[in-house]
Amino acid sequence: MIKLQNITKIYNQNLHNQIVALEDINLTFKQGCTTILKGVSGSGKSTILSLIASLNKPTSGSIVVNNKQISKLPDKFASIYRRDMVGLIFQKYNLIDNLTVQQNISLPLVPQNPDQAILQQKVNQVMEKFHIQHKQNTKVKHLSGGEQQRVAIARANINDPQIILADEPTANLDKKLSLSFIQIIKELKSQNKTIIIATHDPLFFDLDFVDQVVELENGKVIKCY
Ligand code: ADP
Ligand code: MG
Repeated sequence: MIKLQNITKIYNQNLHNQIVALEDINLTFKQGCTTILKGVSGSGKSTILSLIASLNKPTSGSIVVNNKQISKLPDKFASIYRRDMVGLIFQKYNLIDNLTVQQNISLPLVPQNPDQAILQQKVNQVMEKFHIQHKQNTKVKHLSGGEQQRVAIARANINDPQIILADEPTANLDKKLSLSFIQIIKELKSQNKTIIIATHDPLFFDLDFVDQVVELENGKVIKCY
């Protein structure tokens, strides 16, 4: 369970370009539930995801994940938390063009200096699961948009994280690929993962497996149902 309590995030605080990105946000994301974060560009969706991923710290308020405060973790512990608990599926995929599919997928595990056989086994598992096995030795720059996204999803799942965060995941996909992404999310949900998707893609509205919709406007929650 993820709990955001009185979260305010101010960028460039006390500078002439100060921006209040989030203002006094209170939200709960239950274990195994899927949430859609909705709102126009600039409403604060990505900021919420970056705080839950502990890529960023709130200006005030607290974030509790499984009864642990993550909002004040020192960087070293924040990256361990992220590695073990969070799968990130980002807008521009954050893949490395000149590395192969396998190499990209194994990146999150490299800092752990894992046993090669175990690493290969984990990589094979997620490549199979997300149907990208056949391209394992292809450089990412030679893949289509849909294939690149499957690599990103496979990489996000290499540590079998409990939390999946996706930022505008279908922004670069056509309708068919967007629907197949939604299918993947449904599968992840059936594995009891806590999923949060920031999107304004109407394909995500009214999906039967979505448990919560949060509407943001100017850094505030205007609707939650
Ligand atoms: P969304 O994802 O809904 O488009 P964001 O969370 O990216 O919204 O942005 C919310 C507000 O915070 C916007 O006004 C944006 O310009 C600002 N913002 C986001 N990231 C930064 C940053 N790193 N530095 C300064 N301002 C930022
Ligand atoms: Mg965004």
